[in-house]
Amino acid sequence: MRFDTVIIGAGISGCVMAERLATQKDQNVLIIEKRDHIAGNMYDYYNDAGVLIHKYGPHFFRTDKEEIWGYLGAFTDWHMYEHKVKTSVEDKLVPFPINLDTYNMIHDTDLSVPQFQEQLKTYKFTDDPQNAEEAIINQVGEKMYELFFKNYTIKQWGRSPKDLHADTVKRVPVRLDREDRYQLAKYQGLPLHGYTRLFENLIKDQKIKLILKTDYKDIISSIDYDNMIYTGPLDYYFDYKYGRLEYRSLKFEEKTFDCSSYQGAAVINYPNDHDYTRVSEYKKMTGQVHHKTSVHFEYPLEYQEGISDPYYPILNKKNSDIKEMYLADCKKLANVHFLGRLAEYRYYAMDDAVEAALALYKQVWQ
Ligand code: UDP
Repeated sequence: MRFDTVIIGAGISGCVMAERLATQKDQNVLIIEKRDHIAGNMYDYYNDAGVLIHKYGPHFFRTDKEEIWGYLGAFTDWHMYEHKVKTSVEDKLVPFPINLDTYNMIHDTDLSVPQFQEQLKTYKFTDDPQNAEEAIINQVGEKMYELFFKNYTIKQWGRSPKDLHADTVKRVPVRLDREDRYQLAKYQGLPLHGYTRLFENLIKDQKIKLILKTDYKDIISSIDYDNMIYTGPLDYYFDYKYGRLEYRSLKFEEKTFDCSSYQGAAVINYPNDHDYTRVSEYKKMTGQVHHKTSVHFEYPLEYQEGISDPYYPILNKKNSDIKEMYLADCKKLANVHFLGRLAEYRYYAMDDAVEAALALYKQVWQ
């Protein structure tokens, strides 16, 4: 059979492209996915106890972009949920990102909002932080850097914050008041019936065919197609000819407890205690009512092909130099489009990944 477009990877980038091309351009599309399921790292499922969990760690959707919210909303209803995180430091559970209450609880003070804002200004020493350590100390000072960020980042990345790009921690803001939501985005929620159902709806058009549990390199030579959208690892496409790009990986230890609630927040971060970085309790995000509850203890580790999954691109000079060499080669391939977190070697929030896919669709096919 002939396909207009072959898509490598059934994650968010691949499935959005498949949906657009099949439903808007009447294309025959083939998706080839290495894993035994669709939905990439957003995959969720009901575990043996009947609790809906996210296989690859907690994913809460948020965006300020009405177009993206509206686009996905055609494939799912939403469970309206605003994510909140607590951090465990010095035997206290305090709001995270750092806000006025966090500051007062840690310092045993009673600062007002203006006093807190004045205090934050005293930490600033540069307009151009050179690494993740400088970026954080510049915002919250030495003490809170040590308490909240230093060891968490060492655990998360296996590297000192000094050796990581300042952008690594850009996603975590400091609140100037008592705001305790993790994100302030206008639209926040989880798909009412789970992410996997959302993906099933995205790719349900008859013109989309799906092959699971298959490495595309094993079958691609026997497939007739015009265009390829590649969402797998960038270096793998080129057989690692310029070397391997490094990723940080994660391992999840799942536990189910015979009680309806396990902890005092959906996610609790542990910067300084334990080998895990955080504990996520899914029912507190999904809103599921169940007499048991399931949690993930999250352990960061180094990525090894075939053993662990590639999660986070590691932002440092060595990797960005290798990435540039691969990207130069990508530009020479007229009918292959590289899209998404793995193929562009960049950390995408989910809404940005959808936006990038819609942008590629418009640029090439509209
Ligand atoms: N971070 C930290 N302490 C925390 C939470 C985050 O030091 O309690 C740092 C850490 O380096 C982490 C980065 O901020 O990798 C981004 O955090 P985020 O919660 O956005 O990470 P994600 O949810 O994507 O794993």
